[in-house]
Amino acid sequence: MLFDTHAHLNDTQYNEDLEEVIERAQTEGVSEMVIVGFDRPTIQRAMELVERYDFMFACVGWHPVDAIDMTDEDLTWIEELTSHPKVVAIGEMGLDYHWDKSPKDVQKEVFRRQIRLAKKVKLPIVIHNREATADIVEILKEEKAEEVGGIMHCFSGSPEVAKECVNMNFYISLGGPVTFKNAKKPKEVAAEIPLEKLLIETDCPYLAPHPYRGKRNEPGYVKLVAEQIAEIKGLTFEEVAEATTQNAKKLFGIK
Ligand SMILES: [Zn+2]
Repeated sequence: MLFDTHAHLNDTQYNEDLEEVIERAQTEGVSEMVIVGFDRPTIQRAMELVERYDFMFACVGWHPVDAIDMTDEDLTWIEELTSHPKVVAIGEMGLDYHWDKSPKDVQKEVFRRQIRLAKKVKLPIVIHNREATADIVEILKEEKAEEVGGIMHCFSGSPEVAKECVNMNFYISLGGPVTFKNAKKPKEVAAEIPLEKLLIETDCPYLAPHPYRGKRNEPGYVKLVAEQIAEIKGLTFEEVAEATTQNAKKLFGIK
């Protein structure tokens, strides 16, 4: 069975056909998924979904692109939600230097505050990194994030950075890009990082794997990610599915 560790089924793109998307995921063997909320509306919707579906769990936090909008009340609300039994992680948080809506210093402060919250409530963190690797690694070290660990979500960096993150108690999560023909680094990471530190995800509706690249992504496509990792590592699909699902359950504390 497959565990999609990063899905945004709370996105409005699924308003029309959510039930069909979920049915296809189950047909493909997806047994669990984590729904990620990163602002007021998406967190609210993630909580509604995890109340309704027993195989869904929630990750709640504040996205770095919108860091400038986060208020003290928002962070207090996120802290309150962490006492819900189906909230299994905090995020996605991190740094995104591709967009300039939020200044870097604001992003860094919002990132640090969420790491401190995660350590307080003892939940793992889910990291969003876009063009900000050096600063992310520095902040994770300074804040001693290894105490809670977590996930480098949709990891696109080098095997060297991946190993550094593994040494800080983080899992490396691979998504659709590992299936792209020209994606050299994700394939190297899949080859070099041991299976017991790998997770799989879709990040749907974004980053659909080959041959759906450019289309709306959905949790059922996580099977293609597992198949690609199996091929790269010379393992069976079942071995990759089993190991990545056990890794996710261990990290999120799901029985
Ligand atoms: Zn995401």
